[in-house]
Amino acid sequence: MEFGNGIGYSNGNSYSNGNGYNNGNGSGYTNGNGIDNGNGNVNGNGKVNGAKVIKMKPMDSELLREQGHIMVDFIADYYKNLQDSPQDFPVLSQVQPGYLRDMLPDSAPDQPESLKELLDDVSKKIMPGITHWQSPSYFAYYASSTSVAGFLGEMLNAGLSVVGFTWLTSPAATELEIIVLDWLAKLLQLPEQFLSTGNGGGVIQGTGCEAVLVVVLAARDRILKKVGKTLLPRLVVYASDQTHSSFRKACLIGGIHEENIRLLKTDSSTNYGMPPESLEEAISHDLAEGFIPFFICATVGTTSSAAVDPLVPLGKIAKKYGIWMHVDAAYAGNACICPEYRKFIDGIENADSFNMNAHKWLFANQTCSPLWVKDRYSLIDALKTNPEYLEFKVSKKDAVVNYKDWQISLSRRFRSLKLWMVLRLYGSENLRNFIRDHVNLAKHFEDYVAQDPHFEVVTTRYFSLVCFRLVPVDGDEDKCNERNRELLAAVNSTGKIFISHTALSGKFILRFAVGAPLTEEKHVTEAWQIIQKHSSKFTRNGHY
Ligand code: PLP
Repeated sequence: MEFGNGIGYSNGNSYSNGNGYNNGNGSGYTNGNGIDNGNGNVNGNGKVNGAKVIKMKPMDSELLREQGHIMVDFIADYYKNLQDSPQDFPVLSQVQPGYLRDMLPDSAPDQPESLKELLDDVSKKIMPGITHWQSPSYFAYYASSTSVAGFLGEMLNAGLSVVGFTWLTSPAATELEIIVLDWLAKLLQLPEQFLSTGNGGGVIQGTGCEAVLVVVLAARDRILKKVGKTLLPRLVVYASDQTHSSFRKACLIGGIHEENIRLLKTDSSTNYGMPPESLEEAISHDLAEGFIPFFICATVGTTSSAAVDPLVPLGKIAKKYGIWMHVDAAYAGNACICPEYRKFIDGIENADSFNMNAHKWLFANQTCSPLWVKDRYSLIDALKTNPEYLEFKVSKKDAVVNYKDWQISLSRRFRSLKLWMVLRLYGSENLRNFIRDHVNLAKHFEDYVAQDPHFEVVTTRYFSLVCFRLVPVDGDEDKCNERNRELLAAVNSTGKIFISHTALSGKFILRFAVGAPLTEEKHVTEAWQIIQKHSSKFTRNGHY
């Protein structure tokens, strides 16, 4: 039996029972869902009621084996088909809002359905609404970085399903996280103060948004301890106008007044990096006005254009004024495991915290956002909770890490497993080379753009993101923006590639970001051909 669905899913596996699943495991399942709906007449209270009994075995090992194989086949076929039959997978989903409502029932089923029925629905109903981030022709935003090792790590994590909020609740989950983040800190050549061996250490947050939030809270409480809680309305923070929107959100959640969030202007003269002079000027001005500067968020690899804030001068300013400096390197931090990109985080020694998203470019599957702090006690002071039911005795005070005190939520996933697996199953040299391949592919695309007089590369490229656009004609920027907007829509509506956009200095800019694990040179070349083809409407008839 095949999962034929009209959009290219076919895994060629056959299943032997009426439901499409082989239940020849002697465990007595009649429908492949772990449901015994045979003749038993005993309900959950042990009473005979004559009704058909539905007895669920939600975690039966033989059923897991059987259905797990089916699911792995399904996913492996997905990756195969993404490459072999790209025409069946519009990279940007082309459905309209609400498309799914008409395709699914109004309420959940009372009785079990088979995995086959479900996977058929995934193929026919869910897949059309998927934007294929794993397509080799995905070039939008920043990638969702996956790998077999990351996938297996997620699988193992799901299998163990431990909740390591304190050391006791799974010592290995805590201890592996500490070790793996020390490993990664060493690959990044972070200063020793960020390692667990001193006062610092790493923790895996779910996302970059969570990472910046917890450090804003730690820095806020550190300064309030010094100046007194009543001065919260006087606290001010600094970042550039290119900083990820999560920073503003973190500040607002942390009670920082919106008008005290200084987003310093950037422009092309610094390739959209934060000008240190503006920072120092803003701090001096705020101090003179009686404000309390306490936090700088610097970015290495902004979301918009992969701009880099100069950490060396920014760090010196932070140090001079005793301000917490956080470095958000969600995307580009991953590249810093390569010695040739490490220079972008020179100056990190004056930062208090550093974060990168291993799910963006280190093959660690969503989600995995390592954060390092120099002073873990600031984080713990801000986030510690001590309910009696979580207390446990250890021989030595501070002998263990309880990661619940380093994050917002209590429950946490065993994310270090997949990072450990990625690091071990590939090795750092392979990871570096893969990142270099992506950068080379981006360079390849950049060369195409540079050779076409109708286009221009807009910013200096450091990593695997190219910012480009159709050039203006007769200096008409408004019309130029309109044309680039139209080009973006036309290209993405083909379903053959997906690129995204941003705005820089009022200009509508196209973004081409390489990072999907299946992307090869041929996909980059095809993408450029598609972009060129759809731009011809603007470049014909002497428009350019
Ligand atoms: N910071 C930067 C520079 C980013 O590019 C992003 C996301 O693209 C984030 C933070 C937010 O990361 P997350 O989506 O993991 O919260």
